[in-house]
Amino acid sequence: MKITAVRVEVVSEPKHHAVRDAIQLLDRDGHVVTTIETDEGVAGRSDTYFGREPSSPAILARIVQDQLAPAIVGSDPRLIRGIREQLRALTDYQGTAGLSTFGMAAVDLALWDLLGRSLEVPVWQLLGARRDAIPTYAMVGWLELDETALADVAVRAIEQGFRGVKMKVGGGTLHEDISRMRAVRSAIGDEPDLMVDANQAFDYAEALSRGRAYEELGVRWFEEPLPAHDTAAHVRLADKLDVPIATGENRYGQRAFTDLITAGGVGVVQPDLRRAGGLTDCLEVGLLAAGMGVPYASHGGGAHIHVLAALPNTLYMESGLLPEDGSVHLTDGTYPLPTEPGLTGWARF
Ligand SMILES: [Mg+2]
Repeated sequence: MKITAVRVEVVSEPKHHAVRDAIQLLDRDGHVVTTIETDEGVAGRSDTYFGREPSSPAILARIVQDQLAPAIVGSDPRLIRGIREQLRALTDYQGTAGLSTFGMAAVDLALWDLLGRSLEVPVWQLLGARRDAIPTYAMVGWLELDETALADVAVRAIEQGFRGVKMKVGGGTLHEDISRMRAVRSAIGDEPDLMVDANQAFDYAEALSRGRAYEELGVRWFEEPLPAHDTAAHVRLADKLDVPIATGENRYGQRAFTDLITAGGVGVVQPDLRRAGGLTDCLEVGLLAAGMGVPYASHGGGAHIHVLAALPNTLYMESGLLPEDGSVHLTDGTYPLPTEPGLTGWARF
């Protein structure tokens, strides 16, 4: 089988409801749809999402179309890791991180989709699944919500069957964080997990003092307490706090996780399919983490469900609220695995 063409389509629109975390307003709904076609008629597709910066989808599309596509047309699409190494070498001069990694992920995910479709099985079957349903929680606690709206949406998530909820912190004072966390905890009761996410907002001293307060309130993990690149600070923080440090969504490529995991700087590893480099790199990060006894919780859901099905150390899939149309139901707090060939996933994020 040979790749005959790579097509990209750009969609970028304002979001109807903008959301806020500690460092940014997410006000766009941008996508790049990448389709890889073959001489045998079967095609694979990926959908790369952007939450802000209206220009980003168009820039990614140029990278995929002008740089990556010419290098892989004519290749066997089943040599997924071979193509990854080729694209890494190709983008090394401009930097393999950033939108280069988004581009490599777009290709990687389309290739896995293509492989599943060519064999007419969902990708989790090709990975050797460990489980047939994925524990899930809902990220619903955005900073633009006042305490009443925050508590309401957390209750809605628990009513939909999620095992826990996550809320943003760090948008204001520690006192405000604590008040919001108490409002959510009293609304959802003692049983569900509650996670907090600072989106890299703190320096070390602030992360330590807030982390001590968060752990007193019994949170399941403290996410992105520090700038994502600073491995040494993560190691020091993890040493001081009992609550697990969760991070990974802003690390680029599988190689960026090795030091973090082996040095003990992460208690729950959270790769992002786009920034880590696709399904292949997320799977490899997850297996490294498994070897070091570190649980894996995906950043976002979607096609990530296939990785979560396969890994031995899966803790959680991240999701938004379930679709209003009732098309998805959770059973005992878990998503069922998709049955369609390729990469089709259940969760939206
Ligand atoms: Mg996060």
